[in-house]
Amino acid sequence: MRYQNTYVNLDARLYHKQPPTPLDNPRVGHFNTQVAEQLGWAQDDDLMTRWVDIFAGHYVPAEFEPLAMAYAGHQFGQWAGQLGDGRGLLMAQVRDNNDKLQDLHLKGIGLTPYSRMGDGRAVLRSTIREYLCGHALTQLGIPSSNALGFVVSDTSVRRERMEAGAALMRVADSHIRLGHIEWIASFAPDLLGEFTDYMIDTYYPECRDSNTPVLAFLTAVVERTARMIADWQLIGFAHGVMNTDNLSITGSTLDFGPFGFMERFDPAWINNHSDHTGRYAYQNQPAIGHWNLNVWLTHFMRLEGVTRETLADCLAPYEATFMQHYQQGLCRKLGLPHEKESLSLAFEWLTLLEDNLLDYTNSFRALLGLVAPDEHPYEQQLLATMTAELTQEAQKAWQDWSIIYLAQLELVPFEQAVNDMRTNNPVYVLRNSMAQRAISAAEQGQFEEVDRVFNLLASPYDVQDIATELDTTPPNPNAPQMPISCSS
Ligand code: AMP
Ligand code: MG
Repeated sequence: MRYQNTYVNLDARLYHKQPPTPLDNPRVGHFNTQVAEQLGWAQDDDLMTRWVDIFAGHYVPAEFEPLAMAYAGHQFGQWAGQLGDGRGLLMAQVRDNNDKLQDLHLKGIGLTPYSRMGDGRAVLRSTIREYLCGHALTQLGIPSSNALGFVVSDTSVRRERMEAGAALMRVADSHIRLGHIEWIASFAPDLLGEFTDYMIDTYYPECRDSNTPVLAFLTAVVERTARMIADWQLIGFAHGVMNTDNLSITGSTLDFGPFGFMERFDPAWINNHSDHTGRYAYQNQPAIGHWNLNVWLTHFMRLEGVTRETLADCLAPYEATFMQHYQQGLCRKLGLPHEKESLSLAFEWLTLLEDNLLDYTNSFRALLGLVAPDEHPYEQQLLATMTAELTQEAQKAWQDWSIIYLAQLELVPFEQAVNDMRTNNPVYVLRNSMAQRAISAAEQGQFEEVDRVFNLLASPYDVQDIATELDTTPPNPNAPQMPISCSS
């Protein structure tokens, strides 16, 4: 691997160097060979033969320089003070095959000075959820952390019950969170200039070409975040804990806890059981992104040449960037040109889904069964299932809508429309029930289901033989929601 540990050269107040605390009797959970290839991990015999020991903290290769990062944050809208890596360590930074810097971060690997009341561990269930979700989003084409793999162990961890400790070797283009700047502002304000330079040089070097690199950088973070959240909305992803310490400065999805993928469409859906006010409900995500960035930006006022007005200019493109990306994506999902008539059709379609509690993923995909039935037998079946769920009144609305929709579709070359629909509407997303089946088997020592779900999510836009009916079946309309809550 091409190591490039640069974070460790920053001011020592920003982190704490320490080795991981090993897990007992570690065993293979799953390994992502594609990520290993991309990182150059696969080309190193020592790393390949000893990966279980490395993930379990029993062996730290000489080039690794493990450290826990300090950061702070606003949690559920309240200032939470110092947080930091309480159960994870940045192990190494490497240049991947595309010459992109990637962090290797080991999560679940013991106490650090930032553990507060926690035990420094992660349980198998949350490790599998994070592993599969990073993979799912990456393969869907949404910027996200991913992972090299995970191990399970005999170390017992107390949650509501005793559970097996696990560790995830996470891979992300950065682990710097908006909350890093909040920490600096509160605890080491003299570092703001140096740290901002580090972020620009490392992650946004193109901003050096601007006459005002800092403002160009801040604007770029705003735009990338807006695009990431638009991607979430389009695919039906709800992060669940959009605290400022869980948002990356690279606009890449980070920190998976009580996330979820939309099933029966409800814009007000709250997927995090601990989110009593619905702050992080699916439909609030774009506004929360704006709120977080606003909190973040104000700290840069300490830098020379940065004023309240220039910061407002950096934040201003957020809404337009989000809307542009979201609306364009929505049109592509329907195979339509990006224009006003298509958008009103799109919003009518979403209303139909909402009014009839239809499955978000299946319903979009089902449209291929209407548009190009001959080549899409699976989607024809989805369409039949969908229309069978409509009330008589809704049947009429659906028929009226589909006539106008098919007419609007004439504006686009047929092949292009079909291609847009196939590449923007997944067949498979990580439904909670799907993750749960993989977890239940893994808790009995069986990892075949994790492997099957992993393979299914590797090509989410293609209908696959390894799928079962359960993979695409939403819960019953009025079934109680599976409780998924914060840190585990
Ligand atoms: P999260 O809600 O997972 O984003 O975590 C918020 C903060 O709590 C971060 O500083 C985490 O490192 C810390 N944390 C979460 N779970 C644990 C744990 N089991 N032990 C120590 N720290 C934890
Ligand atoms: Mg976090």
